[in-house]
Amino acid sequence: MKYEVDQLGFYGRYGGAFIPELLHKNIAELQARYLDLINSQDFQRQFNRLLCDYVGRPSPLYFAKRLSDKYQTKIYLKREDLNHTGSHKINNTIGQILLAKHLGKTRIIAETGAGQHGVATATVAALAGLKCVVYMGEKDIERQAPNVARMKMLGATVKPATSGSKTLKDATNEAIRDWINHPEDTYYIIGSVVGPHPYPDMVARFQSVISEEMMQQLAAQTGRDYPDRIIACIGGGSNAAGAYYHFLDNDNVELVSVEAGGLGIDSGHSAATSVLGTDGVIHASLTKLMQDADGQIIEPYSISAGLDYPGIGPLHAHLISSGRTKVLTANDDEAIKAGYELTRLEGIIPALESAHALAALPKIKFKPDEITVVNLSGRGDKDLATYLKFLNQ
Ligand SMILES: *Cc1c(COP(=O)(O)O)cnc(C)c1O
Repeated sequence: MKYEVDQLGFYGRYGGAFIPELLHKNIAELQARYLDLINSQDFQRQFNRLLCDYVGRPSPLYFAKRLSDKYQTKIYLKREDLNHTGSHKINNTIGQILLAKHLGKTRIIAETGAGQHGVATATVAALAGLKCVVYMGEKDIERQAPNVARMKMLGATVKPATSGSKTLKDATNEAIRDWINHPEDTYYIIGSVVGPHPYPDMVARFQSVISEEMMQQLAAQTGRDYPDRIIACIGGGSNAAGAYYHFLDNDNVELVSVEAGGLGIDSGHSAATSVLGTDGVIHASLTKLMQDADGQIIEPYSISAGLDYPGIGPLHAHLISSGRTKVLTANDDEAIKAGYELTRLEGIIPALESAHALAALPKIKFKPDEITVVNLSGRGDKDLATYLKFLNQ
């Protein structure tokens, strides 16, 4: 595959593992063993069983008739919102908890922004009977109370990150610090296609079940096993990586990535890394990130806590710079509008993150017979309070 990671963990010039010395042993062990472990028959059997019986896969591919009529084309929704815990995040945490068990680890740590990855991690830690600590920015703990409650119910310890912007980036720093202090017994479950090699490749492989199912479902429903276009939102890029994975080398498929424009990409309050980012190292990987002239990270902003991250995964930095993906941005108000549109046309309340992907629809010129798949990464229950502020506008 043209877009596969190389031996050292690079996609083109992006990726790698820029890690502190104290983590070298952990990362080197993962790098040496992950492919053999996750490709083993035993692992695959356990992984697929849990995806089926526990997560509820395959997730449906739904032809959205009224939405299609509105845009005069054919729009399908890949329903990751119907997974156990409400988003695609569980696909990855199931894979990584199995890996942690195979490696003999007894303690799990994770970072979380909106709390979706924290909930998905606390869930699989309970399932595996392992201790779990989730780092979360103090500000996110306030604005995502329902997910904090779920993590506590599941038995996880939620530790606030109180530095910097008190959001996802700071929670990630805290998690890395914890890992450095507990290298022997602890496994770090990273929530997106970010971080040092092999995490981006590993997470993409676990999420690739999305595009694998899409091929089969499209073949059954449309007679052709690929669409003309796939649209996905990008925080770190894991739902997009999973939705694109098996189509990366198929140039007939246009890949559209939607970034959070926040209050507007020129407003200084945005998380549109793909547009505003420049090359640099964040969380142990060389990628595109939002930074000032001194290399200081610019605080990201989005109405959606799951997209509020100043970097993107190295795979996406490579896909963008090679022209394979096309990047659009959706501002807060456009995402809210798109969330209401899907809800009123199809009776599906999308996560605010997924609403950004839907907000791309008015920006695309469709042909009537074209097939577009929107990856509906999660459900919107967690975002109701935010949506309802705009109910009468
Ligand atoms: C976390 C999250 C995202 C953003 O993360 P990616 O790694 O870019 O997929 C998108 N949608 C939902 C529902 C999420 O929970």
